[in-house]
Amino acid sequence: MLCDNISVNGKGHLCFARQDVVTLAEKYGTPLYIMDEDKVREKCAIYKKALTEAFGNGSFPLYASKALSCKQIYRIMKDENMGIDVVSPGEIYTASEAGFPMARAFFHGNNKTDADIRFAMDRGVGVFVCDGEDELLAIDKAAAEKGIKQRVMLRLTPGIDPHTHAKISTGKVDSKFGAGIETGQAASLVATALGHKNIELCGYHCHIGSQIFEISPFISAADIMLGFSAGIKKTLGYEAEMLNLGGGMGVRYTEEQPQIDYARNISGIAAEIKEKCASLGLKVPKILMEPGRSIVADAGLTVYEAGSIKQIPGFKNYVSIDGGMTDNPRYALYEAPYTVCLANRMEDKKDFPCTVAGRCCESGDLIQEGVLLPKPKRGDLVAVFTTGAYNYSMASNYNRVGRPAMVFLRGGDSYVAVRRESFEDIARNDI
Ligand SMILES: *Cc1c(COP(=O)(O)O)cnc(C)c1O
Repeated sequence: MLCDNISVNGKGHLCFARQDVVTLAEKYGTPLYIMDEDKVREKCAIYKKALTEAFGNGSFPLYASKALSCKQIYRIMKDENMGIDVVSPGEIYTASEAGFPMARAFFHGNNKTDADIRFAMDRGVGVFVCDGEDELLAIDKAAAEKGIKQRVMLRLTPGIDPHTHAKISTGKVDSKFGAGIETGQAASLVATALGHKNIELCGYHCHIGSQIFEISPFISAADIMLGFSAGIKKTLGYEAEMLNLGGGMGVRYTEEQPQIDYARNISGIAAEIKEKCASLGLKVPKILMEPGRSIVADAGLTVYEAGSIKQIPGFKNYVSIDGGMTDNPRYALYEAPYTVCLANRMEDKKDFPCTVAGRCCESGDLIQEGVLLPKPKRGDLVAVFTTGAYNYSMASNYNRVGRPAMVFLRGGDSYVAVRRESFEDIARNDI
């Protein structure tokens, strides 16, 4: 199986976290996002333990909440003692309304408006991850007005190509994010930060991309960041207290992709960081990581009802579902691979090659092509695995389709964490 929370019961039904997905679909309706809360907590614990073991207290993971943002996930992160990464005032609002201790929130983004900056300070966001010179000045000005010293990390681009999809690669020098090390802009940003009295510089950040399976890109990024830090120590006398290596560890979406041992990866990266620090004469900084996808992706599954089955002789077959790009735009965006099955007929022979299509008026509204399923009938349940990350958070109301409900599973129970959008919700702001 793709992940150890997937199984099949005696009725031939798909089970997720040992609960019958057919029963859940009957109880809560379709389309339905299902989240395995125990798996989310298990992943948090793996990252926390691995970072503490490798680097001691003060090194910890931040959950990159753009992967899945809703009040309940922030409550879980609070409970698990995680930090969080937030990228918008909407995420800041949701987290702080959920009671998350905002001192443990890190505010990202390549275009924070003055209003965003003030809002984040009002809500007590602990650290700003600053993207460039003019933002730094805006943060200093807002902090001065509030009479505070704002803790800031600087986002730098180490110039790494992590060999992932171009749209999720972010650490190259021509990226829209951060200040380039090789262009000299990073060094000048540090000097600016040190010269402003309402800024408390606490270190450097980089994020090289997403869905990365090897550790070598992380090691290269860490080497470059530490080399930069050593250079700044020499020229400006400043030594970074924290180094944030961003997120990006891969997740298994199909059987062909490898299973990642996150703890082993972190200890591999740690060994390299310690060696590099020793050779550069640096203290080992506190190391932060910002996993998003690898915390929630395989803790999620989406279940749909099959509707129209279309066979085009000599061409291909379509199975249409009651959701699609509105709840999962990732295939439409970048042909993201997914594993699909019929949740109510897990033991039936898979002999029907098909394209799983959404219900929107777009030919590109597909969930996956080249899928092998038992020949579906109207009313069968189609399950798509590994949808916990970048599905609900990327969902839209295109075609005025409401977002699905989200149910969390915990220790054999289930509960609604996000209600299904009603017609009234969809038309709420229309005048
Ligand atoms: C997207 C993002 C992450 C999370 O990436 P994953 O691949 O989901 O782990 C972390 N940090 C930053 C700055 C990001 O933009």
